[in-house]
Amino acid sequence: MSDSAAAQPAVSSPRLAALVVLRTDVGLVRSENQDFAAFTTPREERGSHPGGRLLIVADGMGGHRGGATASRLATEVVKRQYLESDTTDPAAALRDALTRANARIHSEAQSNADLRGMGTTTSALVLKDHKAWFGHVGDSRIYRVREDAIEQMTEDHSLVASMVREGLLTPKEAENHPRRNVLQRSMGVAEEVEIDVRGPFDLQVGDVFILCSDGLHGVVKEDEIKEHAGLPLDEAADRYVKLALERGAPDNVTVLVARIVRADEIGDETLVDSPYDETVRDEDKSQKTTAKIPAIQEPPNGAAGFSPPDDAAPRKPGFLKRLFS
Ligand code: CA
Repeated sequence: MSDSAAAQPAVSSPRLAALVVLRTDVGLVRSENQDFAAFTTPREERGSHPGGRLLIVADGMGGHRGGATASRLATEVVKRQYLESDTTDPAAALRDALTRANARIHSEAQSNADLRGMGTTTSALVLKDHKAWFGHVGDSRIYRVREDAIEQMTEDHSLVASMVREGLLTPKEAENHPRRNVLQRSMGVAEEVEIDVRGPFDLQVGDVFILCSDGLHGVVKEDEIKEHAGLPLDEAADRYVKLALERGAPDNVTVLVARIVRADEIGDETLVDSPYDETVRDEDKSQKTTAKIPAIQEPPNGAAGFSPPDDAAPRKPGFLKRLFS
């Protein structure tokens, strides 16, 4: 990323907010959704030291129950650790959260024969004030669309990606390579893992962030992701999933889409907009989760101005139950 050393926002910079939508779909081939994703809500963020909005996607792998367990644990532990972190530094909080999630998945795998060898990708993005940070392991991706450009912020920790970097494969060859699913780093497989933590990157009004598992980016290309990023968030997320389904969706498809907006452009009436709108596409085979919750950052002076209702984002049990099972 080229903007990591961006100037501090001017004193008069508008407060920013992030609107977030999440979709996950089992796809057309797999019988189980081993992806898991989540984001924090204003109510949860209020008491946390690092603060900001946290978005997480995890793509589990391994075993009978292992993949789904690993991605769920990664998401839950990263989220909880982040919110309960005693540092105000999002980068440090992210690193600590992913480190603990890795250890937790590994220890669960060691103590349960059913789960042995399980692992997961984890990509977690923090949007706070006028900055973004991420923590990342694996081949899920975080893209940023700004104006007419899309940039993959994360680096894939996959065999084919490293072969591309070494000039052994072209990007085109990598797309269809038989070993394209082989990861060089994943969470939970070993006692320790090397975690990419990057940031801060500056945020601009209109930036769109897309977090996705390889079930999306394996079949929907960057240009197409960019092309639809300007749609209303619900429509963009639906379009991404639809494109993957139209292409056979050989893998679970999960996407989070977040747009940076001016906080003062969001009326109070949108503070809670049916936080989770779950629909089932086909006999329990998909989950659809929608939230439009402004991630309004508290003003620097701590003044009031954002007071989410206590029921800002109740998670519908159906969604959790489905992914927990
Ligand atoms: Ca996958």
